[in-house]
Amino acid sequence: MIIIIGNGISGVTAARNIRKKSDEAITIISSESKYFFSRTALMYVYMGHMTFEHTEPYEPHFWKKNRIDLLHARVNLIDTTNNKLKLSNGNSLPYDSLILATGSKPNKFGWKGQDAKRVQGMYSKQDLENMESSTNGIERAVIIGGGLIGIEMAEMLLTRNIEVHFLVRENGFWTGVLPKQDSQLIMDHLSKHHGLHMRYQEELDEILTNENDEAIGILTKSGEKIDCQFVGLTAGVSPNIAFIKESGIETNRGILVDRYLRTSAKDVYAIGDCAEFREPVPGRRPIEQVWYTGKFMGEIVSETITGSPREYNPGHWFNSAKFFEVEYQTYGDVRAKLSEGQEEFVYQHATEEILLHFVFEKESRKFIGINNFGIRLRHQVFNEWLLNDASIEEVLIDLKIANFDPEFYTKYEAEIIDQFNTQFNTSLTINAPKWWQKLTIS
Ligand SMILES: Cc1cc2nc3c(=O)[nH]c(=O)nc-3n(C[C@H](O)[C@H](O)[C@H](O)COP(=O)(O)OP(=O)(O)OC[C@H]3O[C@@H](n4cnc5c(N)ncnc54)[C@H](O)[C@@H]3O)c2cc1C
Repeated sequence: MIIIIGNGISGVTAARNIRKKSDEAITIISSESKYFFSRTALMYVYMGHMTFEHTEPYEPHFWKKNRIDLLHARVNLIDTTNNKLKLSNGNSLPYDSLILATGSKPNKFGWKGQDAKRVQGMYSKQDLENMESSTNGIERAVIIGGGLIGIEMAEMLLTRNIEVHFLVRENGFWTGVLPKQDSQLIMDHLSKHHGLHMRYQEELDEILTNENDEAIGILTKSGEKIDCQFVGLTAGVSPNIAFIKESGIETNRGILVDRYLRTSAKDVYAIGDCAEFREPVPGRRPIEQVWYTGKFMGEIVSETITGSPREYNPGHWFNSAKFFEVEYQTYGDVRAKLSEGQEEFVYQHATEEILLHFVFEKESRKFIGINNFGIRLRHQVFNEWLLNDASIEEVLIDLKIANFDPEFYTKYEAEIIDQFNTQFNTSLTINAPKWWQKLTIS
């Protein structure tokens, strides 16, 4: 019997892939929902673009057909000596292999009032339901923490005409991740949204509550009082591992795993947001709380569990997100600050919200990574370039093959090369290599 705790993208991917190779009984347990849903789509339910059922990629009969049992329950403890789980309803369940895919939870930093009513993060189905009822008819909200989930929450609230005050501790948006110019582009974009008040270098001191323990405002560290009827806590997420710690499995910030995703306990694996590598894969972080990472870990662990152990080797980093209307993708290793020996080339359109931030090695000219905003570039192409150690010049002259967006093809490419030529005193011209024409674009 294989048991998976967590029915998010990582747990469900593991189950589906194990079933392709094995007939062993599989049970997925989740306390959040019976059926897998797309966490990244939760915001669209609140915004009225889809119903919750639309976020479920598989019909209920899928699970029966694939002989994957679903259990809507909470696991309280893992007995790693006897390979047994204890559930909150008093039942226990034996396992031969156990996969921990318990995800994350929103950070709380001990603020006064953080557990009051109308104060919450935005992570789970229950958070969505709570947000729906807590924000019904309200006028003003405060969001704490300047990351991707905070932006989503702001976008959600603005669609209901709720005024949003967004407190960001740093002096710019997502400055721990984005280089200065990139962050500035997003800040400029955010400043255009009516009803959104960005407050940089401002921190939460405490949440004020009434006699019913409901949020009625906040105090900032600079002493300002902001009246509001809802407080969103979006200052990052942490691995959801409290009960795993109590079970004696080795943890740090997350559940410690080796490159085969094995934990310190026999027959127990961890994947997705909750896993932390003892030794991170070079160029990658020890914990990566993103969709693609969870999906890939689910695929890898399925191979190990079905008898073909495979090391986790995710290749080059990539990610994508949206800041209101501006789409963002990143491929390779672009940090907030250049490392020693690195150089950058930033193309920014004069009037449109389009920015491409290339990073490369100064001496060897090796392309290291790109952040792109306002246009879409193909993952497959950038992955090839990164795998083949392409130079910045090769990337630029062939850029059109990475283009996802026909508008970009005709409009910006020549201008990008021109700017590069001017800045670096080169004379590059546009090219399209033959090897590319053989590749299938997915
Ligand atoms: C609002 C939002 C937007 C996002 N947008 C993006 C995006 O655009 N791009 C991107 O790459 N990533 C995004 N992410 C992150 C991405 O969704 C996560 O990295 C991913 O969903 C994590 O998947 P997982 O399978 O590791 O865990 P989860 O999806 O968190 O699943 C874990 C499940 O385990 C259950 N569980 C935990 N403990 C127990 C227990 N003791 N007993 C029973 N069940 C338990 C939990 O309730 C949960 O259902 C977003 C996240 C959020 C919250």
